[in-house]
Amino acid sequence: MSSNEWESDEEIQYFREYLRIPSVHPNPDYVPCVEFLKRQAEQIGLSMNVYYPANDQNPVVILTWKGLEPELPSILLNSHMDVVPVFPENWTHPPFGAEMDEEGRIFARGTQDMKCVGMQHLAAVRALKKSGARFKRTIHISFVADEEMGGRLGMRPFVNTLDFRALNVGFGLDEGLASPGDDFPLFYAERAVWRVYFHISGTAGHGSLLLPNTAGEKLNYIVGKMIALRRTQVQRLENNPESVIGDVTTINLTKISGGVQSNVVPPQLMVCFDCRLALDVDHEEFEATLQKWCNEVGGGIEITYEQKQPKVPPTAIDNSNPFWLAFKKATDELKLNLKPQIFTGGTDSRYIRQVGIPALGFSPMNNTPVLLHDHDEFLKADTYLKGIKIFQKIISNIANV
Ligand code: ZN
Repeated sequence: MSSNEWESDEEIQYFREYLRIPSVHPNPDYVPCVEFLKRQAEQIGLSMNVYYPANDQNPVVILTWKGLEPELPSILLNSHMDVVPVFPENWTHPPFGAEMDEEGRIFARGTQDMKCVGMQHLAAVRALKKSGARFKRTIHISFVADEEMGGRLGMRPFVNTLDFRALNVGFGLDEGLASPGDDFPLFYAERAVWRVYFHISGTAGHGSLLLPNTAGEKLNYIVGKMIALRRTQVQRLENNPESVIGDVTTINLTKISGGVQSNVVPPQLMVCFDCRLALDVDHEEFEATLQKWCNEVGGGIEITYEQKQPKVPPTAIDNSNPFWLAFKKATDELKLNLKPQIFTGGTDSRYIRQVGIPALGFSPMNNTPVLLHDHDEFLKADTYLKGIKIFQKIISNIANV
């Protein structure tokens, strides 16, 4: 395709229109997204409902295509409407301009994460509906708010509402990642995010003395233990070249604070770690170890958590999961090189899995540099259009399970 053909392609036009809506943090305005989706629903012939699980600023939009056997559990095609902030001075194109160059590269925040996938879900359904296809299962296409802030005003509360239960979801698709190579990453699980704060108390006093049990000594002990644990995970990753970051526990010191004056031994210091617990970590054991270290160094340390996600079982990718088989059949027929793995970061799939619904993360963007949250985020028009075809096949299969 040439740039003129891309320019006049209906789906490319919708995609660019959606990209031009600056639903960007810290204060995303979702009203233009809802209006845009309403026009899409009317154009495609889908019913639309809007829910507000947290507050009236953060909508969950659901477009629905009723199945031939609507009593069967439904299919959920989920995406988030919000995008992360931009630093326009670091971009070569306006971040909400959705400009396209001669190679068909469309530049905008959200081209990869993940306005692309939301629009591809819609485009695939539009094409399928136009072709006269009908499926057994009802298909819900959801557009949620606040994913980039952890979903606390979006999917997280939504999965616990009666409105969500009424959708009777049996299987969900959500975001994955681009791939610079030929393969397509497929995500079936996520690690548990724990943000751990150690509030360390100790003997305060004059900086000229050698007081016992100072907060500084305790801080040193805790940091040493955490960094040693981190080293074992670096080793684990190095020992197995097949493994990826999602297979191990990551630990990073992210915040440190305290102290009053340079010649005063402070009564309290605080250190915070971002921990992502691998799937094989026993959560109770991990927590007990942290507590043990605090006791070993003399106590007086309080542990608090900004986030402490529970253990969520992975979605089965074997014969026990008919949706996986249907998904795999589609990608096999298309000869896609799927790479099943555990997600590095966190997505809304976690909340879907948490209420017992199998979910896979998949963004069909191979041969594409991974630019989510980066400057000059782009997606090629060809890649985008190919992804629509891929979704057509996948949706046809999973909606007929
Ligand atoms: Zn995302």
